[in-house]
Formats: sequence, structure tokens, C-alpha cells
Amino acid sequence: MSKDFTYLDNNATTRIDPAVVAEMMPFLTERYGNPSSGYRFGREVNSAIETARERVAALLGCEPEEVVFTSCGTESTNTAIQSAIQMDRDRQHIVTTRVEHSATLKTCEGLARRGQPVTWLGVNSEGQVDLAELGNSITDETALVSVMWANNETGVMFPIGEIAGIVRGKGVVFHTDAVQVIGKLPVALRDLPVNFLSLSGHKLHAPKGVGVLYVNRRTKFLPFVTGGGQEGGRRGGTQNVAGIVGLGKACELAAESIAHEATVVRALRDEFENGILACVPGAQVNGDRVHRLPNTTSLAFAGVESEAMLILLDQEGLCCSAGSACTTGQHEPSHVLRAMGFDDTRARGSLRFSFSRFNTREDVARALQLVPQAVEKVRRVVAAA
Ligand SMILES: *Cc1c(COP(=O)(O)O)cnc(C)c1O
Repeated sequence: MSKDFTYLDNNATTRIDPAVVAEMMPFLTERYGNPSSGYRFGREVNSAIETARERVAALLGCEPEEVVFTSCGTESTNTAIQSAIQMDRDRQHIVTTRVEHSATLKTCEGLARRGQPVTWLGVNSEGQVDLAELGNSITDETALVSVMWANNETGVMFPIGEIAGIVRGKGVVFHTDAVQVIGKLPVALRDLPVNFLSLSGHKLHAPKGVGVLYVNRRTKFLPFVTGGGQEGGRRGGTQNVAGIVGLGKACELAAESIAHEATVVRALRDEFENGILACVPGAQVNGDRVHRLPNTTSLAFAGVESEAMLILLDQEGLCCSAGSACTTGQHEPSHVLRAMGFDDTRARGSLRFSFSRFNTREDVARALQLVPQAVEKVRRVVAAA
């Protein structure tokens, strides 16, 4: 494939690593057995799933038995929430934040509409929650605290170790949406008092349609997708074998490239960000620049509509986004930037650029040429109007 575009939207999805595709191919062709079948043609497919489970567990620093394969990050999150609120009729309260991905946000909004008590924690202008407020919001009726590890729009990272400790101290179940963290930063779930953690294949160079819910082995659990006894009775339905095998390979590759994320990918992001701040007057970074993913920058451009920017950049073959992919098309200002206290104008004038190990310095150079041009063009049109 000729590369006639520059892809800086890796928080929306990532390129499947060619080594992942190679690992998957046999399971899309001759190795089509059902992993639940008792004969060898099925058992061998099952053992490929178990290898993938071990590879995922190695990246997460947990036991293979704690890894449940699902269809996506969204399903993982739905499963964790539903399991927690169905465990105890007297514990129905949910604590979450205003900046979650729609997987959590819409699920909790839907539950709230049906009378479920939900506490929505706000964030400050850096995108950080108040830990005292979080602790105080937990009551005897709290079923679950669900807080994302890193924000998909700004890259801002919550102190999940501290938060998990607070929640565990109150004896409450804790779920974290770690979709943006896994593969970018090292994690060790053995040392972290987390009950549930969600991740998604297509955010770490595996295919779409496969995810994981980590279920701590001492955590009570009820399945969300019920049916056959697959996944140790924790998720019914014949597994997406090729996707799972691909995710396993992607986790193995991520473990090898995690240092690269923190150095090379971070350097690409920083070179781009510093370049923009230096040459675009009125450009600002949204959110905490210290506690942040190494690959993400959310930039506000004063006096610019991001929708217009996206059209111009698309014409030039640059892929980036305004807010999350899941909310584009709605023309709503980002709920994350609004929650940080930014007005509609700043929220509507912001773009997210997210890098991966497949990006190069040429991509950065190209973006540093195209983005300032587009800002200038939009500003000229606005000034003339
Ligand atoms: C992409 C994303 C999800 C959803 O994952 P899918 O596999 O696309 O359902 C959830 N949370 C965050 C933070 C994400 O970035």
C-alpha cells in the first residue's frame, strides 16, 4: 500500500502489526476448528488461545486465569459494570468521572436514567480528579468505582495506584478502563489493587473486534454475555480465535517495544508539540503535561473551528481528530474539554494528535508543515467574514 497519508490518530485505532497478521493467518484459513471441540483439530486451536492468554497475562503482570477475552474494550467495560451492580442488591451506587470514554459514560448514563445512583466526579483544568472528593463519594451502598487510567482525548493519566488503594481501603470494587495505557506503559496488576481492567486489541496494533477484561481471581464475577461455558464460564460465545491469537502476539510485541514508546514515540510527540507551540500563535496544550501518555497531545488553537481544520487536513492526507472518534459526527464540543472548564470556543477549537511506533520523523515534519498552514487558512477566513 502506498503511504499517501499521515496517520496521527493512534488513539482512535492503530495499524495492525504485520507480525500480528502473520500469526493470525493460519486461524483464518486451515486452522478453523472450534476451540471447544474435543478432538485434536479443536484442542490445538484451544491451545493457541491459551498461548495468547499467557502472552496477555505476561504484559499485564497477572495470571492467565485472570484474562477473559471479549469482543472489544466497550464490552469489557459493560461487563465489569454489570457484574459489580448485580452482586449485591444493597450496593447499587456507582462512582465514575465526567471524562470517561463513552463505553463507561453512556452505560452509566443509561443506568442513571433507570434510577441507579451515580456520582460523577469532575476534573480540574489539568484534567485531574480530586482524590479526597473521590474517597468521600464512596458510601456503604457503593457497588463500583470506575475510573479510566488514561484519557483518550488528552492523554492525561489518573494516579490509578492511589485511586485503587483508596477504593480498596473502603472495601469497594474498582474497575479501570486501561484501553489507552496497555502497550504504551508498563503495568503490573499483581501489585495493584484493581478488580477489573479493560483493554482493547485495536488500540495496540491487534485487530478490531477483540478485547480483554482482567478479572482479579479473588473478585466475585457474573458474566454479561451468557451462553456456552467458554472463557471458564465467564463469557459465552465461540471465541474470535484469530483476533485472540493476534492480540496475544500484539501483547508480546508491546512488551518488547514499551521502552521505545517511552522514548522514541514520546520524542516524536514532543517534537510535534513543541514545534506547534513555537510556530502557531495562541496554541495551547490541553491538560496535565506531566502525568500524560507519551504518545498524545491535545492542542487548542484560538479562533479556529476544529471541524474546518479537519476538512483541510483531510484534504492534505493528515488524519487526526477533534475529540474521540466515537463522538465525531455529533458536532458536540468534547465532554472532556468541557469538564476541564474550557468554554465551548476552546473545546471546539481543539485537535488531538496521537502517535505510535509506526510514525516517523517525516510524519512529524509533514504535520508541522500542514497544521500551521491550516490554522492560518481558517483564521484568514474567519477574519474576512
Ligand atoms: C477505544 C477506547 C475504548 C473502546 O474500545 P473498543 O474496543 O473500540 O470498544 C474504551 N475506552 C477508551 C479509553 C478507548 O480509547
